Amino acid sequence: MECHVGVIAGDGIGPEIVAEARKVLNKIGEKYGHTFRYEDILMGGCSIDATGVPLTDEAIAAAKAADAVLMGSIGGNTTTSPWYKLAPELRPEAGLLKLRKSLNLFANLRPAYLYEELKEACPLRGDIIGDGFDMMIMRELTGGLYFGARETKEVDGVLTAVDTLTYNEKEIRRIAKRGFDIAMKRKKKVTSVDKANVLDSSRLWRKIVEEVAKDYPQVVLEHMLVDNCAMQLVKDPGQFDVILTENMFGDILSDEASMVTGSIGMLSSASLNDTKFGLYEPSGGSAPDIAGKGIANPIATILSAAMMLRYTFDLDKEADAVEQAVRQVLRGGYRTIDIMPQEEEKRLTVKQVGTREMGDLICANI
Ligand code: NAD
Repeated sequence: MECHVGVIAGDGIGPEIVAEARKVLNKIGEKYGHTFRYEDILMGGCSIDATGVPLTDEAIAAAKAADAVLMGSIGGNTTTSPWYKLAPELRPEAGLLKLRKSLNLFANLRPAYLYEELKEACPLRGDIIGDGFDMMIMRELTGGLYFGARETKEVDGVLTAVDTLTYNEKEIRRIAKRGFDIAMKRKKKVTSVDKANVLDSSRLWRKIVEEVAKDYPQVVLEHMLVDNCAMQLVKDPGQFDVILTENMFGDILSDEASMVTGSIGMLSSASLNDTKFGLYEPSGGSAPDIAGKGIANPIATILSAAMMLRYTFDLDKEADAVEQAVRQVLRGGYRTIDIMPQEEEKRLTVKQVGTREMGDLICANI
């Protein structure tokens, strides 16, 4: 297969971690007979330096023309970088918001997976962790409360703020379909999370999700209220496969789920539209504090590349191979600085490696 991948290396550690993900993709290409054609795209601070804006129209066109975009991270130190003296619409992050909007990326996927070898970073008790957990939070990304009309005004002399939460059936149907499609590639269970005991938008959400479920008879659907879901994530995380939810609930629950895995350098993500296109990026930022030191953890970006193989190119076997290689390397005792054990005696049982060495080890295990 010929795969056309737009690459936004970005700022800070971005170029370092993306280089390792490309290395891994090339290894997959060699082994399984695929060609990855990369096209570098400027976005973020590096684009501001080169063009004066965080994302040019040419960059958007290049991203649209690609099958998928692999991204590192953008932005700099928000206190000291001159990028943050610019007007908000000219700052690095404005480029990412514009790109998401231009590409209509309405579905955000964040896996939360607990690696046996990193169990001690998980803040939950051993009896709660049990055999571990492996879930996918699927969050609607372009509707709901964050995109509704808002205003603050005086009503009868009292300052009053209003935010509106709107969803239409089309917006719910398209994300629900995506959620069930993803579940078909996993353990075939969808937990749809809402607040249907209070909100009209949630009652519509539930109705449409039930309609969509009829087209996926192999998938088990359950509904859960958001407050209960927040509790269940720390009480019994192993029960979840795909959590399907609206924008604000997903924002909060995905952060909660990622915290219980314990390590930011391990967390991949994908943002999808209604074609096979996706934007794949680690959940962390550009980590300016460690940029250029060669110590950043490239695993989240490598796992994001694995998601790209699975969801854009339908290369499930190849995605499995990358994920398996990551597990092998962790099992072999190799760690980047962010996932080193805290306790001195446990540190002696593992070996600390840098960004490049971690990428090389993962390639060697493919
Ligand atoms: P951050 O995620 O960059 O860093 C938080 C902490 O996690 C730092 O100590 C950092 O060293 C560590 N860290 C993050 N990724 C790591 C990795 N791969 N390996 C090892 N350690 C890692 O968050 P921040 O410091 O709040 O933000 C820095 C910049 O990144 C800001 O400009 C912010 O706006 C931007 N940002 C960008 C994105 C994105 O590109 N999607 C996301 C979040 C933040």
